[in-house]
Amino acid sequence: MKPAPFEYHRPDTVAEAVTVLAAHGDEAKPLAGGQSLVPMLALRLARFEHLVDVNFVDELVGIDRADGWLRIGAMTRQAAVERDAVVAADAPLLARATPLIGHFQIRNRGTIGGSLAHADPASEYPAVAVALGAEVEIAAAGGSRTVAAADFFLGTWTTALADGELLTAVRLPVWSGRCGFAIEEMARRLGDFALAGAAVAIRLNDADDGVAAAGIGLFGVGPTPVKARRAEAALVAGERHPAEIGRLAMADADPTDDVHATAGYRTRVGAHLVARAVERALAEARGGQR
Ligand SMILES: Cc1cc2nc3c(=O)[nH]c(=O)nc-3n(C[C@H](O)[C@H](O)[C@H](O)COP(=O)(O)OP(=O)(O)OC[C@H]3O[C@@H](n4cnc5c(N)ncnc54)[C@H](O)[C@@H]3O)c2cc1C
Repeated sequence: MKPAPFEYHRPDTVAEAVTVLAAHGDEAKPLAGGQSLVPMLALRLARFEHLVDVNFVDELVGIDRADGWLRIGAMTRQAAVERDAVVAADAPLLARATPLIGHFQIRNRGTIGGSLAHADPASEYPAVAVALGAEVEIAAAGGSRTVAAADFFLGTWTTALADGELLTAVRLPVWSGRCGFAIEEMARRLGDFALAGAAVAIRLNDADDGVAAAGIGLFGVGPTPVKARRAEAALVAGERHPAEIGRLAMADADPTDDVHATAGYRTRVGAHLVARAVERALAEARGGQR
């Protein structure tokens, strides 16, 4: 099938993009890498009168570190994130998550902002964002705002973005000190969306091996990425048994049955993936200073 007819807009700046978006309200959608939007349009699962192609807005591209944060422009391709030395050094969890997204052809076009705005609950980047405590920057004709990742994902394919708003960047806090990171997922085939997954960040105290901070983001186990707050708190409180951390993490999740897996399967596998990721992150953190 082909998409329904639409009017194509090609802004060169964020200001132009949000002006067009504001003019057309819920009839307009930004077009980023097109890896999710174009199939949805072609299958007629979605229809918009106006597509605002932000691929020529240079100010939306780039990776910068400042004041303990890594700022990544929304239109930065996933392939660029995958190859970037600053990301590898300052946000290893994001670097390790990226090769798990689809296939390299998809990552060559797909963008970090598109993945976050699309908000597929089985996506890796949203879970990494909630695990690390990221923030998203949003622009609109009336001004800009920042939203914590933990408040950004509202439901399947639903975010805090309102009509007329454009996601412009994601800001990731740089976890420094004795840190470890791990991401684990279960997918039927390489490149498929995950049936369940866990992204974990851990920072240890300098003085001993106590956990100073823990971030756990789950994916594929509910309508949104899940911040596993009970498991995070238990790690900081001294709980070390991986199976117990896995159980606590899944207590915050809300998996459902679908054609790919049952809720029970996702719960069991999710708990194991959390346990494995926590063990790996702890081992890396104990291994050295970052
Ligand atoms: C075969 C296949 C396998 C895949 N496997 C995975 C996988 O394993 N894991 C995974 O995470 N993803 C997977 N994807 C999805 C892929 O990562 C997409 O790149 C991503 O979901 C969307 O990014 P995009 O830049 O292509 O956005 P688009 O498809 O252009 O847009 C997606 C949605 O986000 C909105 N949007 C995009 N950018 C912005 C912005 N800056 N501000 C506001 N709204 C915006 C669009 O309007 C649209 O609603 C797969 C895709 C395919 C085709």
